[in-house]
Amino acid sequence: MKIAFTKPEIPASGSYVVGVHEDRKLTKSATALDKRTRGQLLAAMAVSRFKGRKGETLDILMPRGVQARRVILLGLGKPADLGSLRLQRLGGALVAHLNRIGETNATVAVDAIADANPTIPTMAAQMAYGAKLRDYRFDKYRTNEKPDHKPTLKTLSFAVADMALARKLHAPLARIAEGVHATRDVVSEPPNVIFPVSFAERCKELEALGVKVEILDEKKMSALGMGALLGVAQGSARAPRIVVMEWLGAGAKADSRPVAFCGKGVTFDTGGISLKPAAGMEDMKWDMAGAGAVLGVMTALAGRKAKVHAVGVVGLVENMPDGNAQRPSDIVTAMSGRTIEVLNTDAEGRLVLADVCWYTQNRFKPVAMIDLATLTGAIIIALGHEYAGLFANNEDLAAGLLAAGKATGEKLWRMPLGDVFDRMIDSDAADVKNIAGDRGAGATI
Ligand code: MN
Ligand code: ZN
Repeated sequence: MKIAFTKPEIPASGSYVVGVHEDRKLTKSATALDKRTRGQLLAAMAVSRFKGRKGETLDILMPRGVQARRVILLGLGKPADLGSLRLQRLGGALVAHLNRIGETNATVAVDAIADANPTIPTMAAQMAYGAKLRDYRFDKYRTNEKPDHKPTLKTLSFAVADMALARKLHAPLARIAEGVHATRDVVSEPPNVIFPVSFAERCKELEALGVKVEILDEKKMSALGMGALLGVAQGSARAPRIVVMEWLGAGAKADSRPVAFCGKGVTFDTGGISLKPAAGMEDMKWDMAGAGAVLGVMTALAGRKAKVHAVGVVGLVENMPDGNAQRPSDIVTAMSGRTIEVLNTDAEGRLVLADVCWYTQNRFKPVAMIDLATLTGAIIIALGHEYAGLFANNEDLAAGLLAAGKATGEKLWRMPLGDVFDRMIDSDAADVKNIAGDRGAGATI
């Protein structure tokens, strides 16, 4: 789907989308269109349930007085609620609607809201961003999909007088959407296609955007003493990798302390010798989503040429049962020198990340380190699927992340850390063990 910003006029083809606020209050464009169609908008609303609530739509086919073959009323909700996130969601809802009805091109009239904030170009840019985020499907392995099931929308235009400004505001958002799509692409791939070596190759593609990409193989990891990560990897025929992606934006010094992103990249997690039950095991192809998110972050930062020094480090392994797999009760030594008694081989993410985070902290001395990971099943039990658990040892960083989560609709919930939990992983045989004895506070421990 192509996004365009065009002059504010009624299109000569396709669908024309105009906004209606809650309680059926017409925007300026809707009022003008109602006049032009001799009252068709008000008449159509009167015989429908459409109230102008957020995301509602009402189609008017073959309206008179205009060449567009369809008018779509889009519910905007209350004007006071039209912040960035609401606008993005409206853009997304519109794309879904247009694909459902089989439209190929549509033009959206963007009208000022009462207090002029956000401005029209900002509104257009944010709606277009939401539209671009919604315009995604992973269909590369479908070979015989019925044409009727395929998305139809080719062009979505936003009619706004200051086209140049809208385009300028939209450009960095479009790069972020590309980062999000890069994450979705890599995490959606099956584990016979994406495994440590092939994931690392995808990271390598970021060099085209100016990202420095370095790949550590088993030999290098073993020389660095990454016994925790290598212990997880040893049961798999697929060799592990660590990928270091470094972005140095304009004005950032190479020797400055970067912001670091670490990602768990278990490309498939069977649980290892502590094998998971068969039902639902297919979901474990997603166990590399933290690394996928780091790949997306680096894609977005480099794509929009962010003036920042950032590194992304992903630990890529496959966790398999095998004659050479690690056993429950094995003791491994992490790069930090700490010994870990592995009591459950399915608690492998923390073993991978122990080495990845230590390495990142040691090598880059980052100003802040953000670890993204599908850890743990217990956090889903605690929070469900709407919130991600946040563990932080820095108040400012935690506050910033919580605020960012709220602003983007990627909600976070802070979880506790502390000495009382540390004691629960004391081991009889090593410095620590990789699981606690009981299931309490499972996400923390
Ligand atoms: Mn696991
Ligand atoms: Zn896992």
